[in-house]
Amino acid sequence: MAKATSQGLSTIGGYTILRREPLERLEGHFIELLHERTGARHIHIECSDDNNAFTVFFPTAPHDSTGVAHILEHVVLAGSQKYPVHDPFFSMTRRSLATFMNAFTSSDWTMYPFSTRNQKDFANLLDVYLDATFFPRLEEDSFMQEGIRFEFETQDDPNSGLRYKGVVFNEMKGALASPQAAMQHALGKALFPGITYEHISGGDPEHIPDLTWQNLRDFHAVHYHPSNAYFYTYGDRPLESTLDVIERNVLSRFVRIEVGPAIPNAKRFDRPTEAIEPYPASPGDDPANKSQALVAWVTVPSGDSFQMLAMKVLADTLLGNAAAPLRKGLIDSRIGTALADGTGLQDDSKQSVFGAGLKDVDAARAGQVQQLVLETLERLSHEGLNRSQVDAVIHRLEFDKRERSNAGFPYSLKVLFNLLPSYHYGGDPYSALNFDADLQRLEDERKDSRILERLIEAELLENPHRALITVVPDPQLEERKRQKELARLAAVEATLAEPDRNKIVEDALRLKAAQDAKQNLSVLPTLELADIPMKFELLAPQTRTIGAASVDFYVLPTNGVTYLDMRTDFSVLDPSHQELLPLFGRALTQSGAAGQDYVEIAQRIAAVTGGIGAAAQVQSRAAVEDFVESFVVSGKALDRNAQPFIELLGDLTARLEIAPARLREIIAESATRLESSLANLGFQFALLLAQSKLTSEGALNERLQGIRMLHTMRELAKVEEQDLGPVIEKLQTIRTSLFRRESIQVVVTCEESMVEPITDLLKRFVADLPEGRQDKPAERPAAQSSAPEARIAPVPVAFNVRSFKTARYTNADAPALLVLANYLRDTFIHKELREKGGAYGGFAQASTGAGLFYLGSYRDPNIIRTYDVYDRAVRWVLDSPIDPEPLKEAILGACGDVDPLESPDIKGRREAINRLTGFTLEERERFKQRLLRVTADDLRRVTSRYLDDGRGVQVTVAGADLIEAARKERPELFAVVEPV
Ligand SMILES: [Zn+2]
Repeated sequence: MAKATSQGLSTIGGYTILRREPLERLEGHFIELLHERTGARHIHIECSDDNNAFTVFFPTAPHDSTGVAHILEHVVLAGSQKYPVHDPFFSMTRRSLATFMNAFTSSDWTMYPFSTRNQKDFANLLDVYLDATFFPRLEEDSFMQEGIRFEFETQDDPNSGLRYKGVVFNEMKGALASPQAAMQHALGKALFPGITYEHISGGDPEHIPDLTWQNLRDFHAVHYHPSNAYFYTYGDRPLESTLDVIERNVLSRFVRIEVGPAIPNAKRFDRPTEAIEPYPASPGDDPANKSQALVAWVTVPSGDSFQMLAMKVLADTLLGNAAAPLRKGLIDSRIGTALADGTGLQDDSKQSVFGAGLKDVDAARAGQVQQLVLETLERLSHEGLNRSQVDAVIHRLEFDKRERSNAGFPYSLKVLFNLLPSYHYGGDPYSALNFDADLQRLEDERKDSRILERLIEAELLENPHRALITVVPDPQLEERKRQKELARLAAVEATLAEPDRNKIVEDALRLKAAQDAKQNLSVLPTLELADIPMKFELLAPQTRTIGAASVDFYVLPTNGVTYLDMRTDFSVLDPSHQELLPLFGRALTQSGAAGQDYVEIAQRIAAVTGGIGAAAQVQSRAAVEDFVESFVVSGKALDRNAQPFIELLGDLTARLEIAPARLREIIAESATRLESSLANLGFQFALLLAQSKLTSEGALNERLQGIRMLHTMRELAKVEEQDLGPVIEKLQTIRTSLFRRESIQVVVTCEESMVEPITDLLKRFVADLPEGRQDKPAERPAAQSSAPEARIAPVPVAFNVRSFKTARYTNADAPALLVLANYLRDTFIHKELREKGGAYGGFAQASTGAGLFYLGSYRDPNIIRTYDVYDRAVRWVLDSPIDPEPLKEAILGACGDVDPLESPDIKGRREAINRLTGFTLEERERFKQRLLRVTADDLRRVTSRYLDDGRGVQVTVAGADLIEAARKERPELFAVVEPV
């Protein structure tokens, strides 16, 4: 309990409350505490949200690129004093209903966050997280498994060739294989020489082998200590009880230590600098115009919330949308086609970095990019920024602060990320949340001064701490790195005596035995099936009909925001139009309309909405092998902007104008963005291609989001501006076919007071659309050839997917398939692919909606071995005993899968889709009941029915040499090998 001290401050246990402040937008309080004896810091956000969150993070700035902080993060999660099992973290994910569990390493901190709505679960996870971080075992075998070790190509054959193995070693090979990673690294090196940011904090595979187990333990001792710890909690759980656990279990067992000095500020440059960094490209690719050029400055301190707000407003005004002058200047120049990685304001270093540049440029023209950026800034500082553009940016920031959404990430942790820079870098974390005060100050300063123009001068034009970074494609880079690694291994191998070789074999076999050994997981706390809530919330819309259109209103507490989805059926389009839908989605929101050009439309979108998006979606029906083809336009706006928001939607759908020059830019930007993210899209591409071999629905998804979509975009990118007429005609046909009075369905999520005004506004909107409806649905695509395929991508790793056709949601087998996916992943696939195989991820997943099941690997060093693991996985279920404990965990996991964390913005939309596709409340509750009754026999039955006997289709996306090696060993493995 809190009590007053003689100084008038309050204390809770050994903690002093330093501050308690109101948070109006959150309807809660900000409480800042200090644990006096150890120096541990704590921030608590007290509010009525039941999704309680906990985080502890530690400043962990590395002094090299061995990946020490990142590998430590992995090893910390591999067993602790109280929980001596080999991965309590992954084990807990299956004994919990956590709405979020993860660990992150950034360039200068390591963080362990979780959130859950269940009180017992919170207590369980808190206990495990505290023991893991402060009392980990840090065993040498864990270091070898997660970090780095020697192994022979064949584990027990000392003459089969020496290799490096380790989860992080492979994870980083995959993570660094993109132009984006090259840009990030080059920025750190160029702008922060001599400071932690010049290193690759995740670890460079060239330097990871230099790390020793002792280095790792020393790093833990000085960094993971209460004196260096920052705690964060959020929610409706009483603070006293959480603090009591932290103090009893952790803080009471430590004495205060001196922590290392804070990260210094970068020494300001006298003059700007330049740097060139290579990134891996495919040997066959044409490297022309595939470079990126970025001008970047070190600017204001990331921990100063007011200066950061001003800088953020400036950055978004310059670059935030198609109307933004610096963005427009860059794109219009046609020196490149899309904004470079690193463009915008970044706050993940002690001093923020502002960057602007272009992708898809000729490296020789990097200087022109810099000149253009400088000239544009020069002009803007003289002429002044457009006031209404600045207003629009401020409106957007205000919108973001108002929305309390769990979309993408729990809101409880979004709050943490808002205050993190000030908390971590020594600013004022309260002011980071109390946005209105900073905003008022900014508005006051805007009134009588040129604050933003002065920022352009002081932080950019007159600031010599600047670098011009060019990242260039290098088709030989991967091969050089591979040869260097092999040469290093050969040199090590030459020095190995007989006993050294034997030790490597012994280590490998011991590690394998430990991975295979049965563990006693009963020491870990767990939820029971009885703790699972069995009911879903009943949500019923108020339905209005406006002419022939139907509108469903979901009335929910949205904090003054209206969410609107407009759905129309795209099955009326023929295939040649359907494949243009991804482009149409972009063109719809990025073109001109109603006599205004795209710049004016972009300006309107920013000024009156929280964003508008448009995309094709394919939704499975619950009971029959069928699906719904939807094109959905989604938008959101503050209630006070409802009218201009809906008028804007009317202009886009009824009066869209697509200019050839603008369309050319949109196509080029999309194509460039796809090509430069191939390293990150490998898994998605492999999965969609595999599923296209099983069902018509899969084939359609491949067309809209897979390699087919990439190919469509590549073809479009070759069309010259003057030849785009027919494409524009097709896009306009799509629009007039989709948006008709009779064919649109609208879903609105809003507060009660908005139902009438929105109904009136929608009446005008509907009246604007053309009448009539096409109801001759086009033929659906057939499933593709089932032949196994490999696609070559510029990555040094593999993504391997085997996919199976199973049963629909209402089929009695569907719940067992969902439990099977959890069971296979947790008892077999994760262990075989990640722990033993060194892949970053190994999955088993059931899409109960689409009636599909897949086994997949992510950033995997293997191909053949992985497919063999998939074969063995099926035998594992059929031939080995299924114990009750892992079965219960798999059921618990499946129950969490079907009941994700939501917020008002998600609920209405989700319910509308459920109603459309037959996922009724009754069916969902029946599904959950069936989940609880799944038995070991059920798992064996569905495995043998759907997964056994060579069923399944497979696709690998990988680097050329991995595919080549796999084909040499097993020539029949792939029937088709092509570049992506
Ligand atoms: Zn990692």
